[in-house]
Amino acid sequence: MFMKYAVIGNPAQHSLSPVMHMAGFLTSKIDATYEAITVLPEELDATVKKLSGEYNGWNITYPYKEDIIKYLDVISEGARILGAVNTVKNEQGKLSGYNTDGLGFVAAVKNAGFIPKGNKVVMIGAGGAARAIVFELARERAEITIVNRNQQKAEELAKQVEDVCGCSVKCAPWEKGEWLTSSELIIQGTPVGMQNEPFTLDLEGMKNNALVVDLIYKPLETDFLRQAKKVGCRTMNGLEMLLYQGAYAWDIWFGRKAPIESMRKALYAAVNKK
Ligand code: NAP
Repeated sequence: MFMKYAVIGNPAQHSLSPVMHMAGFLTSKIDATYEAITVLPEELDATVKKLSGEYNGWNITYPYKEDIIKYLDVISEGARILGAVNTVKNEQGKLSGYNTDGLGFVAAVKNAGFIPKGNKVVMIGAGGAARAIVFELARERAEITIVNRNQQKAEELAKQVEDVCGCSVKCAPWEKGEWLTSSELIIQGTPVGMQNEPFTLDLEGMKNNALVVDLIYKPLETDFLRQAKKVGCRTMNGLEMLLYQGAYAWDIWFGRKAPIESMRKALYAAVNKK
């Protein structure tokens, strides 16, 4: 049976999801297409109507992860708590929404050998991506500190996570602190570095056996990751999170595991070509 999938966003044309999923469909002999659809705000109603009639599922990227919720019939517990959906499954017009961002991130760091339970993690940033990741790491019982430019936002996120997950989450000011030297996993979750600009916090003293992750994947190596590499840390860019959040969509859409290796290969080839 021929199936149709897509990612919607504004803009969506830059998205790497079509390349990744099409490679997976080819490997797994799934007869389906996956497109990137740029949707203007005034087109969202009509687009969701069209997708509901013609597509088996879709992903949602910036800026519609919250707006999509009002169209859904069912929403997973995790997505409801985050107030954001990145994956929709369409079963004869019945729309179910999920969020695989945090799960994808945790799968990526586990694949790199990091065990969240009982280990110290610092999340730099408190936006949408950070939120999804912090909730998932808290469910895995990591010891989390949030560092954000706007500290009040960090404290609000910490409180929400504590209320939902029943664990303690610390916050630290936007400056060098104990978190830098004691964390086993350091996550950069702000857009700083997307234009190749230097990272604004002083990172000297970073624990040299830490796993250091930047959620940015364009460029593949930010100043933040370069600094971490210099002190001997293991580094990971945002492509791995993108890969695993996409792989979780396969569980939802097809009830089967995604062919990770061919999807990863396609992603890196596409990024290196651009
Ligand atoms: P967002 O919701 O807009 O949040 C942005 C965060 O970055 C906020 O915490 C903000 O702090 C902080 N920030 C922005 N500019 C800053 C600056 N100049 N200095 C210090 N902090 C700054 O964005 P998001 O959706 O979470 O995305 C964050 C990053 O993750 C982006 O680079 C995005 O491309 C990447 N991302 C990657 C994936 C993936 O699959 N790899 C998925 C989603 C997002 P304030 O609260 O102080 O404003």
